[in-house]
Amino acid sequence: MTTPTTSKTTNEAEPIPRCCWCNAPVVLKNKIGWCSGNKECRERQKACGVKRTVNGKVKWLFVPTPSQTVAMEATETNLFIYSNRGSGKSHVMRWMCHALALAIPGYKYAILRTSFPELTLNHLIFLKDEMDSMGGEAEGYYYHKTEHICYYANGSMGFFRQAETDEQVKNVLGVEMYLCVFDEAPTFKWEHMAMIAASVRVPAGSGLKPLKRYLGNPIGECIDELWMYFVDKDVDLLKDPEYRQEDWRAIKLRLEDNVHLDIVAYRKSLAGAGLPEHIRKAWLDGERADEKAMFAFFPKKDGKPYHVVAEFPRWGESNRQIISHDEEGWHIPDWVKIYRSYDHGFAPDPAVCVWFAIVGRMIIAFKEKTWLRVIVEDIAKDIVKESKGMRVAMTYCDPTIDINTGADIETIRDKFENGGVPMEPSVNSREHYAAAIHSALQSEIEWGSGETMVMRPRIVFLQGSGIGVPLTIKYLPLMRYDDKNPMEMADHRHDHLPIACAYFLMSVIPTTKNAVVGPPKKWMQPKKGERKVLGSNNVRRRYAK
Ligand SMILES: [Zn+2]
Repeated sequence: MTTPTTSKTTNEAEPIPRCCWCNAPVVLKNKIGWCSGNKECRERQKACGVKRTVNGKVKWLFVPTPSQTVAMEATETNLFIYSNRGSGKSHVMRWMCHALALAIPGYKYAILRTSFPELTLNHLIFLKDEMDSMGGEAEGYYYHKTEHICYYANGSMGFFRQAETDEQVKNVLGVEMYLCVFDEAPTFKWEHMAMIAASVRVPAGSGLKPLKRYLGNPIGECIDELWMYFVDKDVDLLKDPEYRQEDWRAIKLRLEDNVHLDIVAYRKSLAGAGLPEHIRKAWLDGERADEKAMFAFFPKKDGKPYHVVAEFPRWGESNRQIISHDEEGWHIPDWVKIYRSYDHGFAPDPAVCVWFAIVGRMIIAFKEKTWLRVIVEDIAKDIVKESKGMRVAMTYCDPTIDINTGADIETIRDKFENGGVPMEPSVNSREHYAAAIHSALQSEIEWGSGETMVMRPRIVFLQGSGIGVPLTIKYLPLMRYDDKNPMEMADHRHDHLPIACAYFLMSVIPTTKNAVVGPPKKWMQPKKGERKVLGSNNVRRRYAK
C-alpha cells in the first residue's frame, strides 16, 4: 500500500494521498477514498458522509476524504477553502449541502457562481444523478432544471444561482438561505458577497447557525479582501466594527488529496496550457499570486537567493559580515554609506522608515520600522535610537511633510530636524515610484572580480532571524499597476513601505568604494555546518535546550 502508484498515462510517480490525521495512505474503494490506517479516522469520515439504506443494505452515496472531512466539520460562520484547481472542493461543498438538507427538514441552502457556464459544469450537470441516488422523484428527491432548485422529500431546498451582476445579486437576496456557498469566491465583487452574506439567516430558535462558505483558487477580483478577512485577519475595525477574527477561518485543500484524479496527467495538462505565471501559480500550486503585479520580485532565482538575502555580504580575511549589530548599536565600516527613507502615515495609516546600506554598487534594504498613531517627536527619537552607530548620509521623505498647514508654526519636517533627523523631500509621483523600484529590481551589477565575479540584483532585501525588512518583502509583490494607467503604482493599503523605498531609489544613489568586496574566496568560506542560513539560529537554539 505504501509504494507510489503509477499514473495511467504518464508513468510518473504520483503523490500518494495521505490521511491528514494519521498519515496512512488514503485508498480508493468503490469510488470512496478511505483512510487505510485508523478505524477512528474512517468513523470521522463516515460522520460527514451521506448514506442510503435500501432493503437493509447500506450504500454510501458520498464520503469525504480525511482532509475534506476537516473542511466539512468546520463550525465557523465563515470558512474560506482555497486550493489549487482540481482539489474537488466544489463537489465536497455540494455534498455538504445535500447532507444538511437531508438531515434537517426544511433546510435551505444556495450555491452561487459568477459564471453560468461554470455553474452548469461544476454543479448543475450532476444534480439529476445525485437526487436520483437519494431516491429520485418517486421518493420526493428531484432537481427542477428550469428553476435550478433541488427539492428534498423532507421539505429542504437547494438553490443554484448565478450572481455576477447587480440584478442577479438582487434576486439572490430574495432567496431564503441558512447556508450560502460562494463557489470561486475570488471572482465575485466583494460588496456583492458582503450583501448576500448579510442576508444568510436562520429561523429564530432553530438552534442552527448561519453558514457562509467561500471556495476558490487564490486569484481574482476580490482576493485582497478574502485574504484580509481570512488569512491576514488585519481588518480595519473602524471600517467593519462587527469583524471578529474567530468567526473567520481559512483551510487549504490540496489537489494531491484528491483521490479521484490522475494528478500527474492533470498537472501536465495545466502546465502545458501556456498559462501566465500568476494564473499557473494559483491553479497549479494553490498559491496566491497577484494579478497585475507591478514588480518582478524574485526572492530566489534558480534556487539561489536573489532579491532576498539572509545576511550581509562577507569580506576580508576574517570573512565576517560587513555590517553587524549588538547591544552597543550598529557596526558599519566607514566606506559603507547608510541612507534612510521615511513615509509619514497621516492617520490612520502607519508611518514607516526603511534603512539602506550602499555597498559598492549594491543597495541593501536592511532595516524597517513602522509606527501607528505615534507623535512626530517620538518617532524622531525612535529613529535616532534605532540608528545608533550608523553615520546616516541622508534621510529622504514624502515632500508633503514640508508643507506648512497654517495650524502649526513648524512643519513636520521641521519637527524631525529639531529631533535630530534632518530630511530631504523626495518626489511625489506614483509613476516615478514604480519606475524607480522597477529599475532597481531589474538591473544587475557585477559582484566580485575575476573568477568569482557573479551578477547580482542592484537592490537586495535582508531577511534574517530578528533582522531585516520582512514587511517590505511581503508587501512589494502585492503592489499592482493602475488599471487606467499601467505605468503607475495603484493605491494599496500596504504601499507605505514600497513608497518609502521609492523615495530613496528616486534620489541620486552614490556608489561606495572599498578594497575588497565580493564573494569570499573558497578558503574563506565557512565549513559546512558553520554556515548560517535563514533560521539557523532558531534551529540551533531549539536543539541546544
Ligand atoms: Zn487516518
